[in-house]
Amino acid sequence: MAILEEPIKGTLELKNHIDGEWVASAGTKQDVVNPATGRVVARVPISTDEDVRAAVAAAQAAFPGWRRTPPLARVRSLFRMKELMEARFEELSRIQTMEHGKIIDESRGETRRGIENVEVATGAPSLMMGQNLEDIVSGMDEYLIRQPMGVFGIICPYNFPFMVPLWFIPYALATGNCIIVKPSSEDPISQIKIAELAEEAGVPPGVYNVVNGGRTVVNALLSDPGIKGICFVGSTPVGRDVIYRRCGETGKRAIAQCGAKNFMLVMPDADLRGTIAACMTSFFGNAGQRCLAGADLVVVGEGLSESAYNAFYDRVVDAFVQAARKIRIGNGLDESVQMGPLRDASKKQSVVSFIEKGVQEGARALVDGRQFELAGDWPRDAFLGPTVFDGVTPQMTIAREEIFGPVASILKARDMREAIAMIHASPYGNAASIFTQSGKWARDFQYGVECGNIGINVGIAAPVAFFPFSGMKDSFFGTLHGQGQEAIRFFTESKVVIERWF
Ligand code: NAD
Repeated sequence: MAILEEPIKGTLELKNHIDGEWVASAGTKQDVVNPATGRVVARVPISTDEDVRAAVAAAQAAFPGWRRTPPLARVRSLFRMKELMEARFEELSRIQTMEHGKIIDESRGETRRGIENVEVATGAPSLMMGQNLEDIVSGMDEYLIRQPMGVFGIICPYNFPFMVPLWFIPYALATGNCIIVKPSSEDPISQIKIAELAEEAGVPPGVYNVVNGGRTVVNALLSDPGIKGICFVGSTPVGRDVIYRRCGETGKRAIAQCGAKNFMLVMPDADLRGTIAACMTSFFGNAGQRCLAGADLVVVGEGLSESAYNAFYDRVVDAFVQAARKIRIGNGLDESVQMGPLRDASKKQSVVSFIEKGVQEGARALVDGRQFELAGDWPRDAFLGPTVFDGVTPQMTIAREEIFGPVASILKARDMREAIAMIHASPYGNAASIFTQSGKWARDFQYGVECGNIGINVGIAAPVAFFPFSGMKDSFFGTLHGQGQEAIRFFTESKVVIERWF
């Protein structure tokens, strides 16, 4: 059991990045603890209103110069950032594991997905080109140009400390805007590292600012008239009731990508081996702390007799349980490990409360994550094993609410129509997957299901960087999404010019 070398040796004293300087905040400080080892790896400032005001002023001052910098020159900084990220790929990945807990392969995947957004944003000179039509009436032309808007706030969740902010950052910069990033105070180190690389890549002072902290920072960004828009990824109550509502009141643009409860359908003709393998990653990868994680496994009996359906259900449940029992739990820097800890002990406690609720409401815990073996001698505070419930009905709390931990609820649906009705009864609409060999079933599913990200024999339907990261219903508030062409649109305002020459 070799543990990879930790890139952070002591305790980092993190600062804010304002106007090209790394500056202390007058606010308090909070520990960032590696959940696998219990070691304090950094201390992060919980910044004040004044810190936000200083960052907004710096970003506003930098905006005219950055806007006038030709798009090709702007994206040269992104090309340099990408090269720096590649050169430090492994270090950046290990930092994610240290500050979040996820296993190193998940961190490497996250780094790759983050870099892909930088790569796609380098296409901004083409992607933000406008439109032109001559002779809208004889002798008169009309054209549309996309212009940057000013300063944007980017508010981050804890579950993807490196990648999620990159759904926005490179597009905002490439289109000529300035940004203030507020990392999750639970795992802010990755965002500090990216800002350092941006500085090294030549992004001018004031264009890229980082203000650490919590709600005070968010509220200050929401209230500041100097902020043109907010990109938020996090839970539904905050995204809907705080971010989207307040942006509406103050006339700011908003993207609010929110919570989820994702259903995975297993049809009778599914390739069981591939399905179970995909489900293990979907339900238990990142210890279930993914907005695209599987939560409810629905075994569908479409076209089967009662006895054949029962036999099929038993086969799926057996295979799922056997695979879940084999998952090796430990420190994510141990490459033999398949699941790391939850982000912290309070998140573990929240998941445990859901498990207790599941038992109280009558579901059967075929695998109980409260008892688990740990690979290595680590404090157990934030660790939890996979839990698999069967006998779950759609009304149970565990089937309805976002648990955000390694808990699978197995449900039965007699046919696909009943399964889709279950999905539609959920207020969320982030992702859903179907496992089948039937093109017709797959097509009916993707056509009919009201969710933003659909997987067909894919357990984590994560759009790559040139597609929007979608979401519907209580999983998304806004008009345009992060990533790709939609992000370019979000960060630019259309201006239409009609011209005539006498
Ligand atoms: P969270 O809502 O607790 O926090 C998100 C951000 O908002 C943080 O930066 C936090 O400091 C800030 N915040 C928290 N409470 C606030 C308040 N009352 N007022 C103002 N700001 C506040 O979310 P989290 O726990 O960090 O992340 C997990 C959630 O994110 C899950 O619900 C998950 O499904 C969701 N998520 C969604 C997507 C997506 O694309 N739909 C992607 C990743 C995560």
